[in-house]
Order: sequence, then structure tokens, then C-alpha cells
Amino acid sequence: MTSITQTLNQSVVVFSQNYLPMSRVNIKRAIVLLTTGKAEPVNGFTDLGWQVRSPNLVFYVPAHIRLTTHQLERIWKVPPVNRREVLRRDKHTCQYCGSPQKLTLDHVIPRSKGGKHSWDNVVTACAPCNAKKGDRTPKQARMPLRTKPKAPPHPAVAFAEQFWREQQANLE
Ligand SMILES: [Zn+2]
Repeated sequence: MTSITQTLNQSVVVFSQNYLPMSRVNIKRAIVLLTTGKAEPVNGFTDLGWQVRSPNLVFYVPAHIRLTTHQLERIWKVPPVNRREVLRRDKHTCQYCGSPQKLTLDHVIPRSKGGKHSWDNVVTACAPCNAKKGDRTPKQARMPLRTKPKAPPHPAVAFAEQFWREQQANLE
């Protein structure tokens, strides 16, 4: 028997109206969405869910719910370019040599040559590579990038990828 607090900390997977997995919400939030008609249970999952009991109510919360409207989709802004986010995107490895040590940020096209502080121009570089590259482009320095830098994916896309990977893992 789990306590109500433990139950309320469980998470429910939210699908968009088009059945794309979007995010997780806690049970309290799921109850609000279900009781206000903004979400409904998703059929097709072997979905035990949870029973939430209050003194005068038993509420069944499925483990997967689907939004009934588009209203809740928020506008998402690309996160600002900062060290933590860039290192995470680049899996904490130098994009020139693959080293995981002494990591710095490098402007692919140097700022002095008009390079921007943007997701497609900032990469993780170890201090030795950064020093070696200096004020040059990768081409000039003959230091090709291992991957083409780009902005992180929309959280709903990232979540969907993660969700389907987990479903796949559960089937194996
Ligand atoms: Zn390096």
C-alpha cells in the first residue's frame, strides 16, 4: 500500500491530440486536466494507473492521458546559448578531438570574423584544441568538426524520442 503522497508524486505521460507523447505531469496535474475535460485517458495501453482516494472520493488516474485541445501547447523558445546547455548538447566532449577534459566553449567562426554567439556557431572544445585553433575557422586550422552544431530539439520532440526508446526497450 503506497501512501497518498507517494502516489501523487507518480507521473503520467501526456500525449498531444495527435497521440504524440509530449511530457510527463504529476498526478495532481493529471487530475486537474482530466476533471476539467482538457485531457482523457488513452486507450490501447495496458494501463493500470492509480487510484487516488480522498475521504469522499476515489479517483482513477490512468498512466497515459491525451489532451483534448491544442490550447495547452505553449510557445517554446530556443534556450539561450550557455556553457551548461552547450556541454550537454555536445555530450561533454571536445568537438574537435573528442576529449572529455578541460572543456571550454569555442566560436566555430571566431567572433573577430563576425561569428555569432548562436547554437550553430558555438561548440564544446578542450582547452588545447581551442588554443591550437586560435582565431581561425576550422577550415583554416584544418580542424574539422565531428558534428554539425545545431539548436537543441523542441522538448516535445526530445520527450517523444525518449518515450519511444523506452517503449522499445520494454519490448525487448
Ligand atoms: Zn580537443
